[in-house]
Amino acid sequence: MSVMNKHYDVVVVGGGNAALCAAISAAEHGAQVLILEGAPKTYRGGNSRHTRNFRCMHNSPMEVLTGRYDEEEYFQDLLKVTKGKTDETLARLAIRGTEASYRWMQKHGVHFQPSLSGTLSLSRTNAFFMGGGKSLVNAYYRAAEDLGVDVLYEAEVTHLERQDNVIVSVEFTYNRYRERLTPKAVVVASGGFQADLDWLARAWGPAAQNFLIRGTPYNRGVVLRDLLDQGTEQVGDPTQCHAVAIDGRAPKFDGGIVTRLDCVPFSIVVNENAERFYDEGEDVWPKRYAIWGRLVAAQPNQVGHVIIDSKSINLFMPSVFPPITAESIEELASKMDLDPAALRATVDEFNSACVGGDFHPTELDGLSTEGLTPAKTNWARPLDSPPYYGYSLRTGVTFTYLGLKVDGNAKVQSTQGPLDNLWAAGEIMAGSILGEGYLAGFGMTIGTVFGRIAGEEAAGYATH
Ligand SMILES: Cc1cc2nc3c(=O)[nH]c(=O)nc-3n(C[C@H](O)[C@H](O)[C@H](O)COP(=O)(O)OP(=O)(O)OC[C@H]3O[C@@H](n4cnc5c(N)ncnc54)[C@H](O)[C@@H]3O)c2cc1C
Repeated sequence: MSVMNKHYDVVVVGGGNAALCAAISAAEHGAQVLILEGAPKTYRGGNSRHTRNFRCMHNSPMEVLTGRYDEEEYFQDLLKVTKGKTDETLARLAIRGTEASYRWMQKHGVHFQPSLSGTLSLSRTNAFFMGGGKSLVNAYYRAAEDLGVDVLYEAEVTHLERQDNVIVSVEFTYNRYRERLTPKAVVVASGGFQADLDWLARAWGPAAQNFLIRGTPYNRGVVLRDLLDQGTEQVGDPTQCHAVAIDGRAPKFDGGIVTRLDCVPFSIVVNENAERFYDEGEDVWPKRYAIWGRLVAAQPNQVGHVIIDSKSINLFMPSVFPPITAESIEELASKMDLDPAALRATVDEFNSACVGGDFHPTELDGLSTEGLTPAKTNWARPLDSPPYYGYSLRTGVTFTYLGLKVDGNAKVQSTQGPLDNLWAAGEIMAGSILGEGYLAGFGMTIGTVFGRIAGEEAAGYATH
């Protein structure tokens, strides 16, 4: 029977991690479920396809996770990166939900592997997916289909019709036709609005048009906008997002994880005037990589350039693009469209401020510059060993935080109280927990835990 002629208890909007966790969970709790995924089948899985790991609490070593990472340490880490801009109840709910989710994920076909090495050392805190996010998403689609969940691809939801506190219908385009379904309950898991550059530009100014979007072009915030326009409660600031520095040669959309550059701590970073603008060695990379997108965004024309030498080229995980290579700083500058004399002067000034000492790439070594502004406070070694290498940098937006306010049951809130039959999970509600900043692996934590809650709650509502 065509899905248009079937009656569904729960319609899930989106086809990434949060949507799949919700759909599987709803089906396991007895609901007849339909997933409406805006992307074609080959691009299904949204940003979740690009992921590598999720952050998981555990009170003792647990399979691929070493040591102990308890609720309190996890929460304190979150408090630090968000500078307190979080909702403690929801945050603790997400954190506590991770341990059981690890087993639930395995039950539905996700395999884990030990942490990757490099500048991000996460073996104690983050469980890595064998085969990455693409394998995770494929495993979940198989699990969902085994449970009888129907999936419609290239089905872009355009409007959820709200009457009082109830969503009465879901409108979407499919095969160029406008369609309408009337499920008993709806879960929205259609991501943030980062792929709508005009929306980003309204918040950031025209500079946003120069940003690159690291993930799916389908997360344009259509459902988010529609629901906010109908009086659902908004959380978060439109300029807050996860943004990292990525290779300037990355495509406008969907370049994924392989375009991220992890060499900053062992480099100097200059703007298009060949001037340094921030301490490249401020802290270990897992605590600093997510600030560099904003730092580059604040530079002229929103570009940066990383300069390193042969001493450091093998100290970080390589990205997909080879570095630009030269035998002298001046030659490198010409190849990178920088003023050779200006870059030479910046490198000379930096080199003469390096005081020497023991270099330890995996820990804060205190190898700092002296008398230089801005200082480089760790891993400061002169750039003096050719060949020299360079990468251009741009701001790569991962996902936006402005979203829907939910409660502990993942239920969407409105100015007139909670909606009776609408739940949200993943990026679309991440701002309920992430006011600013980011903790590696927390995106998948939010989507998994709240996706499962949303699915169970929606099924409970629809089947009773
Ligand atoms: C390169 C990269 C690497 C990352 N690595 C990690 C990591 O290792 N660990 C981690 O925790 N997080 C990581 N993240 C963040 C993580 O991807 C997100 O937090 C998480 O995947 C969000 O899941 P989601 O289901 O909310 O969104 P998504 O997975 O993006 O799914 C949203 C889905 O909604 C669909 N959609 C959008 N609009 C509509 C519409 N109107 N109608 C129908 N469907 C629609 C999209 O097609 C998409 O499939 C990474 C992100 C990127 C880009």
